[in-house]
Amino acid sequence: MAQQSELFKKLVAHCKEYGFIYQSSEIYDGLSAVYDYGPNGVLLKNNLKEYWWKAMVQMHENIVGLDAAIFMHPKTWVASGHVDAFNDPLIDNKDSKRRYRADQLIEGYMEKIEGKIDKEVEKARKRFGDSFNEALFRETNDRVVKYKEEHENVRLRFADLMTRQDLVGMKDMIDELEIADPETGSRNWTEVRQFNLMFSTQLGNIAGEEGKLYLRPETAQGIFVNFLNVQKTTRQKLPFGIAQIGKAFRNEIVARQFIFRMREFEQMEMQFFVRPGTEMEWYNHWKETRMKWHLALGTPPEKLRFHDHDNLAHYANAAVDIEFEFPFGFKELEGIHSRTDFDLSSHQQLSGKKLQYFDPELNENYVPYVVETSIGADRMFLSLLSNALIEETVPGSDEDGNTRDVLKLPPALAPIKCAVLPLKRNEDALVEKARGIFDELKFSFTCHYDDTGSIGKLYRRQDAIGTPFCITVDFETLENDTVTIRERDSMTQQRVPIAQVEKMVSEKVDMRHLLK
Ligand code: ATP
Repeated sequence: MAQQSELFKKLVAHCKEYGFIYQSSEIYDGLSAVYDYGPNGVLLKNNLKEYWWKAMVQMHENIVGLDAAIFMHPKTWVASGHVDAFNDPLIDNKDSKRRYRADQLIEGYMEKIEGKIDKEVEKARKRFGDSFNEALFRETNDRVVKYKEEHENVRLRFADLMTRQDLVGMKDMIDELEIADPETGSRNWTEVRQFNLMFSTQLGNIAGEEGKLYLRPETAQGIFVNFLNVQKTTRQKLPFGIAQIGKAFRNEIVARQFIFRMREFEQMEMQFFVRPGTEMEWYNHWKETRMKWHLALGTPPEKLRFHDHDNLAHYANAAVDIEFEFPFGFKELEGIHSRTDFDLSSHQQLSGKKLQYFDPELNENYVPYVVETSIGADRMFLSLLSNALIEETVPGSDEDGNTRDVLKLPPALAPIKCAVLPLKRNEDALVEKARGIFDELKFSFTCHYDDTGSIGKLYRRQDAIGTPFCITVDFETLENDTVTIRERDSMTQQRVPIAQVEKMVSEKVDMRHLLK
């Protein structure tokens, strides 16, 4: 764990040092849980969004895009259930004055039990060596069985409390389990109360409740209220989907862990409208399809897992998370939810407008069911970087120094695809030649020109931002119009004619490699 938190600290520092992410309003000591993307961050995030958009919209004839406004009619949030039910259970510690989510305290307790089980397993593995049968040990060891029973009891009771939103029960549970403030150890807790996560603001000249507007806490509702507009104008037949990328805002109680939990963040959501009764088939389809999308990025399969929800949201009849192993443990990266006809029916009821589809095969009208895939662009960004950032020793290389930080991003997502570097910065002929190459390549992809250091330093700088290819212009270039191309991961160099560089790099950084 300690090692992992070191890794996480390093990642956060790397993001700042190399222009990926800055704390918002840093000169005023920052705004908690709000972040800005720097020059390399914005390029990487845009590429990530493009990969999602292409995979969802461009690759599917029956999925179309939308860009709905952040502000929506306030009734939207009544119909969706957000005004009444978009709450987190809040608890304060009276001694430390720290604020926590009661559900997360209980989840933390369960994680501790899991940790104890893992510890027993590790101890036994050392004791038994090669003959160790982990599955059998987990089934039969007395201590492990006891921990597992305790975990299951807590899990079931907690799921029931969450489903019933029983706040008194949650407080009782925190007391009974003797859960302490993780920072200070104090057990002096307030009651648990509901805290609504929506930010609100006021519309122009209308005073009071009537003019109260919310900053959308999810992009999905913009899709639901436009369901008929989109269906009619595109003449899509069920099943079909509407995809959207956009900002969402949540007044999170505990916002830690960098861009994992922010108060302003970006979602990439797709709502897939289906015939009632077919939703489980589509739910399974999207579960598999979305997992493939993650794996295509080269994410190690053992770092991804499905996690079924124990307690379902008011709108869902099935829900699963795709979890990723962040440096602070497995956490939700994406949610796949079968939302039934809850949203469309509620909007239909409150607006008095029919939100139905005429199914020509069945010759009847109905409110479609919806399967949703919803992923945070920022969480995805964090998962990409935590996979990609590697510190390596460089054995027997003629490059400067013997370690390097390298971002092994998929080339199609890298912020800069190619850097053009003169071997010596004070040689006018090299500089001029390199500039000429850069001025041509920049028409095809994002390029850097850099002559501000020794070649070894320039390579390190490009490695640290994940540039897959470095083109070096040397004295041989002046003689025969060839350059070397250095590949980021292997650090191997190949000499090629300048005329071939554009084609070679374009081919390697093409997003097709991910989409196929
Ligand atoms: P969590 O349980 O972590 O609060 P959630 O279940 O409320 O997340 P959803 O409402 O399903 O999240 O939102 C879909 C996706 O949006 C999440 O999988 C996550 O990637 C992203 N997301 C949600 N809240 C935040 C946040 N505060 N900051 C960054 N990303 C977020």
